Amino acid sequence: MKKNILAVIFVLILSVETSAAGEIQEAAGGWKIIESRFTTIHVDKDLDCGVLGGRLDVSFAMYDPVEKNLFYERGLTESEILANKIDIIARKAMRVLDMKPEDFHVNIRIYGNEEKLWKTYDKLFDDGKRFKAFYVHKYATVYIPYENLGESILAHEIGHAVIDSYFGVLPPEKIRELLACYVDVHLKD
Ligand SMILES: [Zn+2]
Repeated sequence: MKKNILAVIFVLILSVETSAAGEIQEAAGGWKIIESRFTTIHVDKDLDCGVLGGRLDVSFAMYDPVEKNLFYERGLTESEILANKIDIIARKAMRVLDMKPEDFHVNIRIYGNEEKLWKTYDKLFDDGKRFKAFYVHKYATVYIPYENLGESILAHEIGHAVIDSYFGVLPPEKIRELLACYVDVHLKD
């Protein structure tokens, strides 16, 4: 009996250990999953976390007394750096908007190319429209392809997630768009 309890505790410790922030987990369809403080990042199996992180310039965090600790953290893996950078962007989006939704969390799906993104879009909406990236409130998910990934567009889409999570009753679409644009305009302030 005691042995069983010990085994359960060991398994629990293991599962906590394996889901640590910034670590890569494999998921169905070959997606790599990385947990960060504010996001769950789903990365297409063909993409490299180091290359993705390299596309996000968060050097604005250098001048922030709190964020700079994250920015200057050393000895991290490529997936941890990616998770850190996305958290810096998410936190800045909340600060620019002055909105801090309780337990804010958003999924980010990074596709290998635009075509893969469009396939997903057509399955969800089937209206023939095309976007560089988009956010779906129903699934609390930002969808973005590798070639469009950048700090401004990601801040804009995470901004949508923050706005939609903050309001109990969603403001009109034009207002939400205006607020999301405000995030990427002031990202580097
Ligand atoms: Zn928008």
